[in-house]
Amino acid sequence: MQYLLKPCALLLLLLTVFSAYSTTTQLTATQKLVVPKNIIYVIGDGMGPAYTSAYRYFNDDPSTKMVEQTIFDKLLVGMSSTYPDDDTYVTDSAAAATALATSHKTYNGAIAVTKEQQPLTTLLEQAKAAGKTTAVIVTSQINHATPASFLAHNEHRRNYDEIADSYLTNLINGQPVADIMLGGGKRYFIRDDTDLTHGFIEHGYQYIDDIDQLNQLTRIPALGLFADKGLAPALGSKHPTRLMTMTDKALQLVSSRKQPFVMMVEASQIDWCGHSNDISCAMAEMDDLAKTVRLIKAYIDTHPDTLLVMTADHSTGGLSLGRAGTYQWQGQALKQVTMMPNDIAQKMLRSEQPLVFWQQTTQLPLTKEQKLQLTETIMTAKAQKRPQKYLTKALKHLIDTATYTGWTTSGHDAVDVQVFAYGKGYEAFIGHQDNTGIAATIMQMIDQ
Ligand SMILES: [Zn+2]
Repeated sequence: MQYLLKPCALLLLLLTVFSAYSTTTQLTATQKLVVPKNIIYVIGDGMGPAYTSAYRYFNDDPSTKMVEQTIFDKLLVGMSSTYPDDDTYVTDSAAAATALATSHKTYNGAIAVTKEQQPLTTLLEQAKAAGKTTAVIVTSQINHATPASFLAHNEHRRNYDEIADSYLTNLINGQPVADIMLGGGKRYFIRDDTDLTHGFIEHGYQYIDDIDQLNQLTRIPALGLFADKGLAPALGSKHPTRLMTMTDKALQLVSSRKQPFVMMVEASQIDWCGHSNDISCAMAEMDDLAKTVRLIKAYIDTHPDTLLVMTADHSTGGLSLGRAGTYQWQGQALKQVTMMPNDIAQKMLRSEQPLVFWQQTTQLPLTKEQKLQLTETIMTAKAQKRPQKYLTKALKHLIDTATYTGWTTSGHDAVDVQVFAYGKGYEAFIGHQDNTGIAATIMQMIDQ
């Protein structure tokens, strides 16, 4: 009897749990969506979970026993899958940005078009059509895959000139999709055959080309192109927090209007550091993003009708915090690296005392054997066709060895990425979702 009762009781328990679970999910499904007035959508390009973990240990205060939480830890609410509609689970930035901008999956390389190359409405187009102020702030060129997927439609991300052109032809109520565009890309907008900045000025835009002139932007619409392609990397830059500076300006501009706004902010270059397997580069980009997010959080604390949603489009490089069987990751040591490895290599090749220069710019100690090896590498590099490239690779390897950092690919990988949210309506992003789901929820919010 006892044996018979037990399975029955178990079944009863399971049924109870199941019905309670269904009721909860049903309630969640029918719960009214909390709709914010303003939406700030942040994308860390290439920022897989290893990057936010690395940033935590990079910032750890060694004088305390506990590892301090970062802004990323504090705002984490869920995870997202990133696979494209292609013959692979590994997405590129175009397909992922299309999913994040339109809530539709597509093929790698596509800029807000379907597999049949039909245009997909983006959430910034939707916001602009609804009379909201729209903004795009990036550290890449503004016609790069991620921003392009919010502003244009093209069969391929590499058609940079065509994409730049379409920023003046893809109009909503006679105006370009984004009221504010800050980032790089001058060479695609000012070309031998055309100067697109004139077109923007005709549409009433204020235009500047120097990030030091940001205070000259006094009203909307506004365009700022601060580099030929992407902005200079954060590490060793005159403007290590340029994403934060541009976002601050954009928030000032949108606040001067009473209208609701939708803003897309991309830390574009985390991905570039990942492709080049460069951990010191990545930590500097993460630092700019962390400061940007802190600024946005402070804005929301004084403008509580605003929502922040942040995610990544995918992870890059297969970053690993541990290497070659050793139970170590020495990320704090990266704080002493003050220049991009590429620049260190260039200076070392010209220096009389390259090892002293290495010591000064990285503070990373070299063993006797490493010193000999590095001296030999410099000699070999000088005999190469591209000495700087050769030496840079060796320097990155030295940094990885010293900090126990590992990489598995120079491309992207298929791991899920994190979802962060804060402010009005943040609850809608809790749990696991697909990247298309994030966009679908935001589009639903913009619609209301
Ligand atoms: Zn990438």
